[in-house]
Amino acid sequence: MRILVTNDDGIAARGLWALVRELRRVAEEVVVVAPDRDQSGIGTAVTLHHPVRVSPVPPEATRVESYAVEGTPADTVILALKTILKDKKVDMVFSGINEGSNLGNDVLISGTVSAALQGYFYGLPSVAVSVAAIKRVRFDIAAKFAALIAAQFAANDMPQKFLLNINLPNLPLNKINGVEVTRLGERSYMDNIKAGHDGKRKYYWIVRGKPDWKEVEGTDIWALGQNKISITPLQSDLSSQGQLEPLDRAFPALFQGLKEGDKVKRSRRG
Ligand code: MN
Repeated sequence: MRILVTNDDGIAARGLWALVRELRRVAEEVVVVAPDRDQSGIGTAVTLHHPVRVSPVPPEATRVESYAVEGTPADTVILALKTILKDKKVDMVFSGINEGSNLGNDVLISGTVSAALQGYFYGLPSVAVSVAAIKRVRFDIAAKFAALIAAQFAANDMPQKFLLNINLPNLPLNKINGVEVTRLGERSYMDNIKAGHDGKRKYYWIVRGKPDWKEVEGTDIWALGQNKISITPLQSDLSSQGQLEPLDRAFPALFQGLKEGDKVKRSRRG
Protein backbone atom coordinates (compact mmCIF):
# COMPACT_ATOMS: atom_id res chain seq x y z
CA MET A 1 0.00 0.00 0.00
CA ARG A 2 1.17 3.48 -0.88
CA ILE A 3 -0.17 6.43 1.14
CA LEU A 4 0.07 10.10 0.27
CA VAL A 5 0.26 12.34 3.33
CA THR A 6 -0.37 16.06 3.32
CA ASN A 7 -1.72 18.74 5.67
CA ASP A 8 -2.48 22.44 5.88
CA ASP A 9 -0.24 23.35 8.83
CA GLY A 10 2.83 23.06 6.60
CA ILE A 11 5.60 20.52 6.13
CA ALA A 12 7.33 21.43 9.41
CA ALA A 13 4.24 20.71 11.53
CA ARG A 14 4.62 18.07 14.26
CA GLY A 15 1.23 16.53 13.54
CA LEU A 16 2.24 15.61 9.99
CA TRP A 17 5.28 13.66 11.12
CA ALA A 18 3.47 11.94 13.96
CA LEU A 19 1.01 10.69 11.33
CA VAL A 20 3.82 9.63 8.96
CA ARG A 21 5.55 7.63 11.71
CA GLU A 22 2.45 5.56 12.46
CA LEU A 23 1.39 5.11 8.82
CA ARG A 24 4.84 3.73 7.99
CA ARG A 25 4.10 0.79 10.27
CA VAL A 26 1.15 -0.31 8.13
CA ALA A 27 2.01 0.89 4.60
CA GLU A 28 4.88 -0.23 2.38
CA GLU A 29 5.36 3.33 1.21
CA VAL A 30 4.45 6.73 2.61
CA VAL A 31 5.09 9.83 0.52
CA VAL A 32 4.76 13.35 1.93
CA VAL A 33 3.74 16.21 -0.35
CA ALA A 34 2.80 19.15 1.85
CA PRO A 35 2.61 22.95 1.73
CA ASP A 36 5.89 24.68 2.59
CA ARG A 37 4.09 26.89 5.12
CA ASP A 38 0.93 27.14 7.22
CA GLN A 39 -2.10 27.23 4.93
CA SER A 40 -4.80 26.82 7.56
CA GLY A 41 -8.13 28.30 6.51
CA ILE A 42 -7.26 28.41 2.81
CA GLY A 43 -10.07 25.96 2.06
CA THR A 44 -10.34 24.35 -1.34
CA ALA A 45 -8.25 27.00 -3.14
CA VAL A 46 -6.25 25.86 -6.16
CA THR A 47 -3.40 28.09 -7.39
CA LEU A 48 -4.14 29.17 -10.96
CA HIS A 49 -2.54 32.61 -11.27
CA HIS A 50 1.14 31.90 -10.65
CA PRO A 51 3.45 28.91 -10.99
CA VAL A 52 3.68 26.38 -8.15
CA ARG A 53 7.18 25.22 -7.23
CA VAL A 54 8.06 21.91 -5.62
CA SER A 55 11.21 21.30 -3.54
CA PRO A 56 12.27 17.76 -2.64
CA VAL A 57 13.24 17.46 1.02
CA PRO A 58 16.43 15.40 1.60
CA PRO A 59 15.22 11.89 2.50
CA GLU A 60 17.94 11.54 5.16
CA ALA A 61 16.11 14.28 7.07
CA THR A 62 12.68 12.68 6.97
CA ARG A 63 13.31 9.00 6.10
CA VAL A 64 10.42 9.12 3.62
CA GLU A 65 10.14 10.65 0.15
CA SER A 66 9.01 14.23 0.88
CA TYR A 67 8.27 17.37 -1.09
CA ALA A 68 7.50 20.91 0.02
CA VAL A 69 5.08 22.73 -2.26
CA GLU A 70 4.78 26.51 -2.55
CA GLY A 71 1.03 26.21 -2.76
CA THR A 72 -2.23 25.26 -1.13
CA PRO A 73 -3.19 21.90 0.40
CA ALA A 74 -5.33 21.17 -2.69
CA ASP A 75 -2.32 22.00 -4.91
CA THR A 76 -0.20 19.44 -3.06
CA VAL A 77 -2.61 16.59 -3.78
CA ILE A 78 -3.08 17.58 -7.42
CA LEU A 79 0.70 17.83 -7.98
CA ALA A 80 1.34 14.59 -6.11
CA LEU A 81 -1.18 12.59 -8.11
CA LYS A 82 -0.60 14.23 -11.50
CA THR A 83 3.19 14.70 -11.44
CA ILE A 84 5.26 13.52 -8.50
CA LEU A 85 3.58 10.09 -8.20
CA LYS A 86 2.18 10.03 -11.71
CA ASP A 87 3.47 6.55 -12.56
CA LYS A 88 2.73 5.01 -9.18
CA LYS A 89 -0.50 3.77 -7.70
CA VAL A 90 -1.62 5.76 -4.68
CA ASP A 91 -4.03 3.82 -2.46
CA MET A 92 -5.03 6.39 0.16
CA VAL A 93 -4.68 10.05 1.05
CA PHE A 94 -4.32 11.29 4.64
CA SER A 95 -4.40 14.95 5.62
CA GLY A 96 -3.23 16.14 9.04
CA ILE A 97 -2.86 15.75 11.83
CA ASN A 98 -4.24 19.25 12.19
CA GLU A 99 -3.66 21.33 15.29
CA GLY A 100 -7.20 22.36 16.08
CA SER A 101 -10.56 20.80 15.37
CA ASN A 102 -12.38 21.00 12.03
CA LEU A 103 -16.03 20.71 12.99
CA GLY A 104 -19.35 21.70 11.47
CA ASN A 105 -19.17 24.60 9.04
CA ASP A 106 -15.38 24.72 9.50
CA VAL A 107 -15.00 21.92 6.96
CA LEU A 108 -15.84 24.44 4.23
CA ILE A 109 -12.79 26.61 4.96
CA SER A 110 -10.49 23.91 6.31
CA GLY A 111 -7.36 23.27 4.29
CA THR A 112 -7.00 19.94 6.09
CA VAL A 113 -10.39 18.73 4.88
CA SER A 114 -9.89 20.30 1.43
CA ALA A 115 -6.69 18.34 0.82
CA ALA A 116 -8.59 15.13 1.58
CA LEU A 117 -11.42 16.37 -0.65
CA GLN A 118 -8.98 16.59 -3.58
CA GLY A 119 -7.97 12.98 -2.99
CA TYR A 120 -11.67 12.07 -2.97
CA PHE A 121 -12.17 13.96 -6.27
CA TYR A 122 -9.50 11.69 -7.73
CA GLY A 123 -11.47 8.66 -6.58
CA LEU A 124 -9.24 7.76 -3.62
CA PRO A 125 -10.24 6.93 -0.07
CA SER A 126 -9.26 10.08 1.79
CA VAL A 127 -9.11 10.93 5.46
CA ALA A 128 -8.72 14.26 7.28
CA VAL A 129 -7.53 14.04 10.89
CA SER A 130 -7.62 16.82 13.47
CA VAL A 131 -7.09 17.10 17.21
CA ALA A 132 -9.28 19.54 19.10
CA ALA A 133 -6.60 21.67 20.74
CA ILE A 134 -4.12 24.34 19.76
CA LYS A 135 -1.92 24.13 22.85
CA ARG A 136 -0.11 21.02 24.09
CA VAL A 137 -1.62 18.98 21.27
CA ARG A 138 -1.13 15.24 21.61
CA PHE A 139 -0.93 13.47 18.28
CA ASP A 140 -0.18 9.91 19.41
CA ILE A 141 -3.73 8.56 19.58
CA ALA A 142 -4.86 10.32 16.40
CA ALA A 143 -1.84 8.91 14.52
CA LYS A 144 -2.47 5.37 15.80
CA PHE A 145 -6.13 5.60 14.95
CA ALA A 146 -5.27 6.77 11.40
CA ALA A 147 -2.92 3.79 11.02
CA LEU A 148 -5.71 1.43 12.13
CA ILE A 149 -8.00 2.89 9.46
CA ALA A 150 -5.28 2.42 6.82
CA ALA A 151 -4.75 -1.18 7.95
CA GLN A 152 -8.47 -1.87 7.87
CA PHE A 153 -8.69 -0.45 4.35
CA ALA A 154 -5.71 -2.56 3.27
CA ALA A 155 -7.55 -5.62 4.60
CA ASN A 156 -10.45 -4.79 2.22
CA ASP A 157 -12.74 -4.09 5.12
CA MET A 158 -13.93 -0.71 3.88
CA PRO A 159 -15.54 0.85 0.81
CA GLN A 160 -13.19 1.68 -2.08
CA LYS A 161 -13.93 5.37 -2.05
CA PHE A 162 -14.75 7.57 0.93
CA LEU A 163 -14.05 10.92 2.50
CA LEU A 164 -13.81 10.93 6.28
CA ASN A 165 -13.43 13.89 8.59
CA ILE A 166 -12.04 12.70 11.91
CA ASN A 167 -11.70 14.80 15.03
CA LEU A 168 -10.23 13.62 18.31
CA PRO A 169 -10.40 15.14 21.76
CA ASN A 170 -6.99 16.13 23.10
CA LEU A 171 -7.08 13.45 25.78
CA PRO A 172 -5.23 10.31 26.85
CA LEU A 173 -6.85 7.06 25.72
CA ASN A 174 -8.36 6.25 29.12
CA LYS A 175 -10.29 9.54 29.05
CA ILE A 176 -11.75 9.03 25.56
CA ASN A 177 -15.31 7.68 25.69
CA GLY A 178 -15.36 5.84 22.37
CA VAL A 179 -16.03 6.54 18.70
CA GLU A 180 -19.13 8.14 17.22
CA VAL A 181 -20.06 8.26 13.53
CA THR A 182 -21.57 11.70 13.16
CA ARG A 183 -23.07 14.31 10.86
CA LEU A 184 -21.81 17.87 10.66
CA GLY A 185 -22.97 20.21 13.38
CA GLU A 186 -23.37 23.95 13.23
CA ARG A 187 -20.64 26.20 14.45
CA SER A 188 -20.09 29.83 13.60
CA TYR A 189 -17.51 32.39 14.59
CA MET A 190 -17.85 36.00 15.52
CA ASP A 191 -15.19 37.43 13.25
CA ASN A 192 -13.38 40.40 14.74
CA ILE A 193 -11.57 42.99 12.66
CA LYS A 194 -8.38 44.56 13.92
CA ALA A 195 -7.32 47.61 11.94
CA GLY A 196 -3.87 49.15 11.83
CA HIS A 197 -1.68 51.38 9.69
CA ASP A 198 1.62 50.35 8.12
CA GLY A 199 2.78 53.91 7.45
CA LYS A 200 1.43 53.94 3.91
CA ARG A 201 -1.92 52.26 4.03
CA LYS A 202 -4.54 51.03 6.41
CA TYR A 203 -4.68 47.27 6.90
CA TYR A 204 -7.01 44.81 8.55
CA TRP A 205 -6.65 41.51 10.34
CA ILE A 206 -9.60 39.15 10.36
CA VAL A 207 -9.42 37.56 13.79
CA ARG A 208 -11.61 34.59 14.51
CA GLY A 209 -13.38 35.04 17.80
CA LYS A 210 -14.72 32.35 20.10
CA PRO A 211 -16.90 29.91 18.18
CA ASP A 212 -20.58 29.70 18.92
CA TRP A 213 -22.16 26.27 18.54
CA LYS A 214 -25.16 24.12 19.26
CA GLU A 215 -24.51 20.72 20.81
CA VAL A 216 -27.06 18.69 18.87
CA GLU A 217 -26.92 14.95 19.53
CA GLY A 218 -25.44 12.97 16.67
CA THR A 219 -23.26 15.81 15.40
CA ASP A 220 -19.48 16.04 15.37
CA ILE A 221 -19.53 18.95 17.81
CA TRP A 222 -21.66 16.95 20.23
CA ALA A 223 -19.36 13.91 19.99
CA LEU A 224 -16.31 16.01 20.88
CA GLY A 225 -18.33 17.50 23.76
CA GLN A 226 -18.79 13.91 25.00
CA ASN A 227 -15.00 13.35 24.79
CA LYS A 228 -15.53 10.94 21.92
CA ILE A 229 -13.71 10.53 18.62
CA SER A 230 -15.93 11.89 15.85
CA ILE A 231 -15.97 10.36 12.38
CA THR A 232 -18.03 12.21 9.80
CA PRO A 233 -18.41 10.70 6.33
CA LEU A 234 -18.54 13.57 3.84
CA GLN A 235 -19.63 13.94 0.23
CA SER A 236 -19.03 16.75 -2.21
CA ASP A 237 -22.70 17.21 -3.20
CA LEU A 238 -23.74 20.35 -1.30
CA SER A 239 -27.22 20.44 -2.84
CA SER A 240 -29.88 21.21 -0.26
CA GLN A 241 -32.35 18.37 -0.77
CA GLY A 242 -35.02 19.99 1.42
CA GLN A 243 -35.13 23.13 -0.72
CA LEU A 244 -35.48 21.43 -4.10
CA GLU A 245 -39.24 21.16 -3.95
CA PRO A 246 -40.20 24.61 -2.55
CA LEU A 247 -37.80 26.38 -4.92
CA ASP A 248 -39.02 24.30 -7.83
CA ARG A 249 -42.44 25.80 -7.15
CA ALA A 250 -41.16 29.39 -6.87
CA PHE A 251 -38.69 29.75 -9.72
CA PRO A 252 -40.67 28.86 -12.87
CA ALA A 253 -42.91 31.88 -12.10
CA LEU A 254 -39.83 34.11 -11.88
CA PHE A 255 -38.70 32.91 -15.29
CA GLN A 256 -42.11 33.80 -16.64
CA GLY A 257 -41.61 37.28 -15.17
CA LEU A 258 -38.23 37.45 -16.90
CA LYS A 259 -39.84 36.71 -20.25
CA GLU A 260 -42.68 39.16 -19.73
CA GLY A 261 -40.27 41.89 -18.66
CA ASP A 262 -38.42 41.39 -21.92
CA LYS A 263 -41.66 41.73 -23.87
CA VAL A 264 -42.49 45.02 -22.10
CA LYS A 265 -39.11 46.50 -23.02
CA ARG A 266 -39.45 45.46 -26.64
CA SER A 267 -42.94 46.82 -26.97
CA ARG A 268 -41.76 50.17 -25.56
CA ARG A 269 -38.93 50.34 -28.05
CA GLY A 270 -41.29 49.38 -30.88
MN1 MN B 1 -4.33 23.82 10.08
